[in-house]
Amino acid sequence: MMANIPDNAKYVIIGAGIHGLSTAMHLALRLKANGSSVGPRGARIVVVDKTGIGAGASGIACGVVRNNYYQPAMRELMAHCVGVWESDPEAYSYHPVGYMQISPEVMHAQVGTIYEQQKAIGYESVFVEGEAESRKYMQGILHDWQAKNITSVLHEKRGGYANNMASLRGLAKKATALGVEILDGVEVKGFRSANGATSIRAVETSTGTMGCDEVVVAVGPWINALWNMLALPKTISVKGRDGKVHDGVRMWHYMALQEGTLGVDPDYQKTNDGAMPPVLHVDTDAPLHSDRDGHLITDKLWGIYYKPDFHFGGVQGGAMPAVVEREPDDVRVDPYGPKSPEFVVTDNFADMWTSALAFCQKRFEGQHAKYRSEEPSGGIGCFTPDSFPVFDRFRDNVYVIADSNHGYKMIGVGELVADELLGTRRQLLDPFRFSRYAAGRLHPVSNSPFPWS
Ligand SMILES: Cc1cc2nc3c(=O)[nH]c(=O)nc-3n(C[C@H](O)[C@H](O)[C@H](O)COP(=O)(O)OP(=O)(O)OC[C@H]3O[C@@H](n4cnc5c(N)ncnc54)[C@H](O)[C@@H]3O)c2cc1C
Repeated sequence: MMANIPDNAKYVIIGAGIHGLSTAMHLALRLKANGSSVGPRGARIVVVDKTGIGAGASGIACGVVRNNYYQPAMRELMAHCVGVWESDPEAYSYHPVGYMQISPEVMHAQVGTIYEQQKAIGYESVFVEGEAESRKYMQGILHDWQAKNITSVLHEKRGGYANNMASLRGLAKKATALGVEILDGVEVKGFRSANGATSIRAVETSTGTMGCDEVVVAVGPWINALWNMLALPKTISVKGRDGKVHDGVRMWHYMALQEGTLGVDPDYQKTNDGAMPPVLHVDTDAPLHSDRDGHLITDKLWGIYYKPDFHFGGVQGGAMPAVVEREPDDVRVDPYGPKSPEFVVTDNFADMWTSALAFCQKRFEGQHAKYRSEEPSGGIGCFTPDSFPVFDRFRDNVYVIADSNHGYKMIGVGELVADELLGTRRQLLDPFRFSRYAAGRLHPVSNSPFPWS
């Protein structure tokens, strides 16, 4: 919708990504269920985005939806989110093909605990243990499976992936049908509060000032900028797992997500019985050699994920992210994603990822030339000190949804936040409060080479 800023809105939601749109939609649903009207003559819910729907991380996300997390609180939250994806697969362009975590011995025991806890919360999965058993299980699905040093397979029967822009449009359509206003091209530049008050009473934007009762900040990789505008602390104290308090810890840091597409027909990756396979995530400590020229790429623990995807037009996936060694204020988030001159993937990624595909399945041997190097891909994510989300209220009436780059799959967080905005505390969000850093209630850390597992 063309920007036409109202003078006031009850709820101003900043960011039209997965979280902003999901929060807006669920908030409108709840208000309507309570008998309130939503829109210019009722409770006004206005979503503003400096560019438009899907201009951030949600619009370029690989779209993987999984439960596989070593942290119990993440698993429970993801089980809730998967339920939301399953509630309307068509509108959300969701493909419930399942998800597999395929691991080396160093991760075996931890993944075993994930399986046990998935059983405990009723999240259907199969756990295969042992090298020969794992190979047999994988070859039963994909006959050319050949990855080495794999001693367990966790096969989640739920989850899969969704098409990024299609799902956002689905959410936006539901939200606008409920009376939510989505304004493109409106950039938030600052906040106003009454003299001496901490709460925000107006949002300053590129097209004017809008009064508000509540603000939701759902700006993905731009969180550092909005955090600064809200005058929240750039560094914090974290009580570590060692019981000691560490002062001066940077609140935000960036990582560059590395993803790409192999330009083969997506049908090329069908299972033995002609179906679309689960999303595969493979970690291993077997040495990885280049499929191009045989050189050793790494002999350390490494991992990749991939899926055939008609939307990307090939087999799409990624590898471990690269740390952006810079103060967060010095990171140029714009232009974002594939348009960034700095943060698109390099040839090293292409070599590593296509070689890893060939390492896993024979059908990918010698296919590296089909990598879509002409299409820049990847994007940066903004991470919290422990790389897990912060969902919390600040400045009395500002709700921050900062998912630490876990979050396309977290479509259900908006539903929980909507409840909290209306006064009902949701326990699933409690482990993600900001106070956990000072209190030392940190999430457990896994042996995975990924910061988000
Ligand atoms: C390459 C890549 C692949 C990923 N793959 C997956 C995956 O497979 N599965 C998964 O679960 N997660 C994945 N993620 C993480 C996931 O994409 C993000 O965690 C999630 O999309 C963040 O959603 P969001 O709504 O918070 O923010 P975004 O989707 O980034 O939306 C934020 C919006 O805020 C707007 N905005 C910013 N600043 C302002 C301002 N000042 N005023 C107004 N508007 C503003 C932006 O224009 C943008 O549209 C991936 C991330 C990347 C980068």
